[in-house]
This record gives sequence, structure tokens and C-alpha cells, in this order.
Amino acid sequence: MASLDTRSVHAGEPHPRIEGAVTLPVFQTATYTHETPEQPPRYIRYSDSPNHDALHNKLAALAGTDDALVTASGMAAISTALLSVLDAGDHLVAPRGLYGGTLALFDTWLPRFDIKHTLVDADDRGAWEAALQPNTAALYAESITNPLLAVRDLEMMTDLADTHGLVSLIDNTFASPVNLRPAALGFDVVLHSATKYLGGHSDLAAGAIAGPTALMEDVRATAKLLGGMLDPHACFLLHRSLKTLGVRVRQQNETAHAVADALSAHRAIDRVRYPGLASHPHHERAQALLDGFGGMVSFDVVPAADLDTFFEALRLPVRASSLGGVETLITQPVHTSHRGVAPEVRAALGITDRLVRLSVGLEGTDDVVEDVTTALNASLPPDA
Ligand SMILES: *Cc1c(COP(=O)(O)O)cnc(C)c1O
Repeated sequence: MASLDTRSVHAGEPHPRIEGAVTLPVFQTATYTHETPEQPPRYIRYSDSPNHDALHNKLAALAGTDDALVTASGMAAISTALLSVLDAGDHLVAPRGLYGGTLALFDTWLPRFDIKHTLVDADDRGAWEAALQPNTAALYAESITNPLLAVRDLEMMTDLADTHGLVSLIDNTFASPVNLRPAALGFDVVLHSATKYLGGHSDLAAGAIAGPTALMEDVRATAKLLGGMLDPHACFLLHRSLKTLGVRVRQQNETAHAVADALSAHRAIDRVRYPGLASHPHHERAQALLDGFGGMVSFDVVPAADLDTFFEALRLPVRASSLGGVETLITQPVHTSHRGVAPEVRAALGITDRLVRLSVGLEGTDDVVEDVTTALNASLPPDA
């Protein structure tokens, strides 16, 4: 099979090219003519425009699955996939530390359909086994977690799913298909917030669901009814972004690793969390599973350093939530993703008030390293 980069440029492109257009034009139309009464109608909500078709084929080629479907957001992908594979009364198991929106869906929405869940210690197979109930239908995981960048034992999870006949779903947003392809490990459904690395420019919202043909038929039927489809213009933007996915993510991997190395040696830092560092608790697993360690770095700043001064001294990183774009973004999870989480729950997860999360962009590696280390220097008292 051609390399991921070649697939990202060429897979899914229409042959012959439409009107000879080298890039796929935007089919900004809500409906299509009906040539014969026998033909099924084509309608914008059915996600069957030329923009959707090309994008689906490209995404499936990147994920290594039969088929894929784009949605209006990452949460639309997650909710549509879950409501496709689960029935009322089903139970699912997932590790603690899930993305906040997903956890809220589990906590507040799925119980309306009598779908309950159990959260377990990710690395404790016994805990997973103990959580299984006669009605357990699915296992839900994330490949790399927010914001602590834990790398999950994905082979244990697919083995568990196989042994117990569970549908396995995984949110692969943080790794992107460049660094990890969970379908090759046996996951049934791969989910992405395409708002992040797949979109890559902090300028669109989208989601993706990838999986085998039969399962994706159910997903498509559910998506048609829930209605969270992606607009053709957003399809165009996402399609364009995918062509540069490989070069973007590899560059972000490289810069993030350089930042993590520099921060490890910095006296203003207590602890750096980056899967590429030997000090990361899952470093060996990350080496075995991932083609790259990703563009996210989290770190705890020492109590002696002043966080306000640090943030004010930064010149490049933009203080904003979300991730995966061309601009380096910086946040404190306690003020963003984990704002609504009770302090004792945050403490139990290991998310301190001094934890900072960096989404490395595409600025020059040395510039990002220098900017962050200079701001850290400024945050320390003069005698430190
Ligand atoms: C952002 C994100 C989501 C939700 O995606 P949206 O596009 O914001 O709906 C889900 N999972 C992870 C890991 C995310 O980072």
C-alpha cells in the first residue's frame, strides 16, 4: 500500500477529475436532480455529495478501514457512533480520565436510554473484567488522553473486546492517523475530533467515524436521522487539510519532543509529561504502539514560579483551548477542559492547578523552545 502521505494526497480523489479540476470543487447544493424515479434521492443531509464521497474515501484510506463518515463535530461522531452500536439497556466500560464532553455524554445523556457505564483503572485488566456485566456491549477508549497524555494499553483492550464479544470504539484524536492506526490493532470503530489535527488550522469543526462496511452502514443510517452532517464547504476545508496531515503532524512531533526535552532540564518545571520521554510512565508502550509521540506536551510548573508572569512573558503561544492547529496553543486545564471537574476528582486524576498543556504548532522548533524557556525564566524570582 502506498505511504500515508501518498494516500493523504491521492486517495479518494475523483477519476476522472471533475471538469479537469485538480482540486475538488465545493458542491454547495442541498439537493440533486433525479434523473429517473428509480434512483435514490441525493440530499445534503445524507452525506453523499462528491465532497463527502472523496473525503470518506480519503479518511478510510488513512485510518486503514473499509469506510468512513464525516460529521459536524467530534461530539457528533462520538454520539452518532455510540447510538449506532448501543441499544437501550446496554452497558459500556471505559477507562477513567475521558475527554470531558464524552464523559458528560456518558453521565447525563446515555442514562436517558438506560445505557449505563463503568469507569475503570485503564491498566488493570482485572478491573476491566470485574466491570463486565451480562449486558456489557462495548468498550470505549482513547489512544492518548487529555491532558496527561497517558498512552493506553490498546492490545489488552482489543483482546478483552475479542474475548468477551464487545464492540471496541476508540477516540484517536490526540494521536491522529499519522502516529497511530487503531483499526490495525483490532479496534472496530475509530473516532476523531477532526476539529483538531485532521483539520489542523483551528478554523473548522468536524468529526470522523471509521470502521468496517457493515458497521458503517448502521452508522450512516443513524447519522441520517440524528442529522449531524458536515456542510460541503467544511468538507472542502477538511479535505484540503488532510493533504498536508503527514508533514504537519511529523513536524509537530519533532517540535513537541524538543520542547519536552528542554522543559525536562528546566528548573521552573516539576514534571513534564510527554510519551517520547524515557521518564513517561508509558514510554515503552508508546514506542511499541506509536509512529510518533505527538504534538502535545503537559508540564507542572514549580510553586516558586509565577504562572501569571509566565503566561504574560510568552510571545508565540496563544492562550486558547483546543489543539492541533498551526499556532501553538497553551492552556491550564484547571481553567479550560477541567474547569467543571470537582477539585478532589482533578487531584485524583493528577491534574494540578499548576499543570500547563501545550499544543505545539508549526512555528520554528527553536523559536517555540526559546519562547517557552524564556518565559519560564521570567517566571522565577531573581534569586531562584
Ligand atoms: C475536542 C475533542 C473531542 C470533541 O470534539 P469536537 O470537535 O469539539 O466536538 C472529542 N475527543 C477529544 C479527545 C477531543 O480532544
